[in-house]
Amino acid sequence: MILKCTNCGQKNRVPAERVTQTITCGTCGTNLSATGKPIAVGEKAFQDLVDNSPIPVVVDFWAPWCGPCRAVAPEVEKLAERFEGKVIVAKLNTEKHPAVAQREGVRGIPMFALYKEGKRAATQTGMMSADKLAGGFDL
Ligand SMILES: [Zn+2]
Repeated sequence: MILKCTNCGQKNRVPAERVTQTITCGTCGTNLSATGKPIAVGEKAFQDLVDNSPIPVVVDFWAPWCGPCRAVAPEVEKLAERFEGKVIVAKLNTEKHPAVAQREGVRGIPMFALYKEGKRAATQTGMMSADKLAGGFDL
């Protein structure tokens, strides 16, 4: 997957199996983290994370036109913050990546899916608080 450097904007390619390790920007050396805040993923990064992440992955399936998705975004950020280093929180734009959404059986959004060891472990749909999200996924 690609992590954009918060300092210089350089896009750094990071293998999913390394997400819990210290990652530094190849250009400026700034420490980058794959956890602590939601990361945007496309089709390849989604699959890479689901297949290879050593820690659980929560994916927020959303779209720019979806009001509840925008409303729930701060809760998704809270979740990522709370589980820094323990859970990857990824956002997949279903408008940009409809093939993934179709394959994952996304009907209503926002839809949240928890993936562990390459498999989907649980799904929740609709607007909810970070507490409810974490509780429903037993994080
Ligand atoms: Zn940098």
